[in-house]
Amino acid sequence: MRFIRFQFKDQPARQGWILDDKIGEVEGDFFGEYRRLKAEIPLEDVRLLAPVLPGKIICVGRNYADHAKEHGVEVPKVPLIFMKPPSSVIGPGDAVVLPHQSQQVEHEAELVAVIGKRGRNITAEAARDYIFGYTIGNDITARDLQKTDGQWTRAKGFDTFCPFGPWIDTEFDPSDALITCRVSGQPRQMGSTRDMVFSVGTLVAFVSSVMTLEPGDLIFTGTPAGVGPLLDGDEVIVEIEGLGTLKNPVKK
Ligand code: ZN
Repeated sequence: MRFIRFQFKDQPARQGWILDDKIGEVEGDFFGEYRRLKAEIPLEDVRLLAPVLPGKIICVGRNYADHAKEHGVEVPKVPLIFMKPPSSVIGPGDAVVLPHQSQQVEHEAELVAVIGKRGRNITAEAARDYIFGYTIGNDITARDLQKTDGQWTRAKGFDTFCPFGPWIDTEFDPSDALITCRVSGQPRQMGSTRDMVFSVGTLVAFVSSVMTLEPGDLIFTGTPAGVGPLLDGDEVIVEIEGLGTLKNPVKK
């Protein structure tokens, strides 16, 4: 099942689900009790929003060896985690806005796990019981500020630096899926989730040994090699095989 948030005309945002090119409303709470209404609204009549309003957005640095190598750094011995603020979230089709403080804003195509159940000290084996589903994310990064600041809050935290969506897929298998990123038609990144240094289960275990995970929290699982610049007027497309496509324009 694929869960979404959407807006129909000028009405308030609503939760829904999508089947092919039709949308239905979801009453209640994705993560608890809900009721699905029939999918009969045409997709082209609605605007898809980020599929959940996240609490915490936890990201993992250098989780693909080839990406660590392109920056000349070692793969970490334990997961290297950082956070993005919820105010950085945008949905599919929304513009990534280049901040004037950076001369080098880059894309990072990533698989994102969406937490569905509260938990602390979750084991890697039990992680799947706490994951509601998966979505596609782009961990937009001001690379120059990441280098000069040392820690990454500013470089990763600008408004519009966290596009994700278009839906949360509850049946997606994260073990071996192709991730690609194209910028204005040019291929940039290609990798498989199979090449993650730390698996999704290991990441959930590690993060939940630090902080309680809550429904709606996101875990960005790292990016493969090939990150590169985004310029005014570009369109950045992240695709994950079997999951879908996330497109965002880029502007100044
Ligand atoms: Zn990243």
